[in-house]
Amino acid sequence: MFEMIKLPYATNALEPYIDATTVETHYGKHLQTYFNNLEKIAEVSGEVLGGKSLEELLSTPENLPEDIRPGVVNQGGGVYNHNLYFSILSPTPKKSPEGKLLEAINKAFGSVEEMKAKVSNEAITWFGSGYGVLAKDKEGNLYVRGVKNQDTTLCHGLKPILLIDVWEHAYYLKYKNLRKDYVDNIWNVIDFAKVEELYNEC
Ligand code: MN
Repeated sequence: MFEMIKLPYATNALEPYIDATTVETHYGKHLQTYFNNLEKIAEVSGEVLGGKSLEELLSTPENLPEDIRPGVVNQGGGVYNHNLYFSILSPTPKKSPEGKLLEAINKAFGSVEEMKAKVSNEAITWFGSGYGVLAKDKEGNLYVRGVKNQDTTLCHGLKPILLIDVWEHAYYLKYKNLRKDYVDNIWNVIDFAKVEELYNEC
């Protein structure tokens, strides 16, 4: 009933910025486990979930019964966040945003460089596991947020369009404790064509 992204590139395609072993473990073990756990919840509680999309469920988690709410938020959030994370990475990324996304970035942050600095700072300084996120509201205004664990900004009415995973599993095999180096390097493989697509969706 839910979907896990099919990796749109080879596991070594993001090297040297993100190494093959990290992608294999991150995608094949971590995301796969979130997905398997979510499917188990769906098997048992399919009726309660009512055929809603992950985005709908994570936008209003307060509507879920208490016994499955943490599972949907953590496992479902894990699937949602990782589907987004792997989808915005590319070995042949568009390096700079254009069009409506560029206008919105300039309006909110003054420049693309300043937006990147704000997302990076959120990711580098975030305490513990979570994400640095660029998200949009219904009017298309952009915001930088940090979220903990597998939370999303959806429950605050903000749809994420770009995020940097700063769980240790995202970088520790290659970068060890140097989270800043990972965050600085990931911009080399963030594909603004995909981020534009997500921004332009209703
Ligand atoms: Mn992750």
